[in-house]
Amino acid sequence: MRGRFAPSPSGALHLGNARTALLAWASARAQGGAFVLRVEDLDPPRTVAAAVSGNLEELRWLGLDWDEGPDVGGAHEPYRQSERQAAYDAAFERLAARGLLAEDWLSRKDLREVASAPHGPVGPVYAARERARSERLAAARRAEGASPSWRVRFAEPYVDVHDARLGARRFDLAAETGDLLVRRRDGIWAYALAVVVDDAAMGITEVVRGDDLWDATGVQAALARALDLPVPRYAHVPLLLDGDGVRLAKRRGAATLAAYREAGVDPHRLVGALAATAGLVPAPTSLAPAELLPAFGLARLDAAPARWSPALEAWVRAR
Ligand code: GLU
Repeated sequence: MRGRFAPSPSGALHLGNARTALLAWASARAQGGAFVLRVEDLDPPRTVAAAVSGNLEELRWLGLDWDEGPDVGGAHEPYRQSERQAAYDAAFERLAARGLLAEDWLSRKDLREVASAPHGPVGPVYAARERARSERLAAARRAEGASPSWRVRFAEPYVDVHDARLGARRFDLAAETGDLLVRRRDGIWAYALAVVVDDAAMGITEVVRGDDLWDATGVQAALARALDLPVPRYAHVPLLLDGDGVRLAKRRGAATLAAYREAGVDPHRLVGALAATAGLVPAPTSLAPAELLPAFGLARLDAAPARWSPALEAWVRAR
């Protein structure tokens, strides 16, 4: 059994990230599994250099550990997506060899202009109209020296995915997605390709992550199948909401682990409070992460989104 946490280093980790990391870690450790830390710095403009090592330090401060990761190495190196281009190239070649790739000459503006294009869980649906329009534009754009992006045409119209917490769902690939973008015209890999390739290459058997990613799971499972890679067991966990019921997000300046650390907060209080938001303990109490393991089970987590209330905030900061 191998689990993982895969932060995107776009800034300091906030409480919601910490909660997901804690649950992914606890699930792996409670099953006696290995835990892998992978840094998802796929998109250079979104990467904050200081967050690459900073996120690891923030998780260590919380009390989490991992068997493999950018700072400790491991048998499946490298653990930073920015260094894994060769693996994505190889997957791309495999898709090409299977005849599943198609050029896409449409710009974002073109896609917006196809006004009727419905919006699916991973962006505008790319279907027959888009394909036809791309084909019409191809020669002229090639002559201008432009490069296409690349999309996968799934052979199957749908994919069934099971989630350990949310149950079964049939993703209608044809209606919800169409052709899936895997490589942008600037050469940047789409996240779906990278996550599928990396989880398989790193032997990940269980993916515990926020349920905002559930909608995007269908294409990831379909891509894994198209590449003949195993589909991991998924467990999507509810997100942490702030006192007003709004999802915590880096962009909105949610409270970061770094800020708690600087304020002298005891990480065991934070762990205990986060465990309380998941229903793992009845009331906040000071806990080392390992104390959660004997009774841990994904099935025990509260189904509802959790709230970080002012009372919890005050309890964490009390001494
Ligand atoms: N890097 C993604 C994020 O931070 C995680 C996606 C995943 O766990 O598959 O949102």
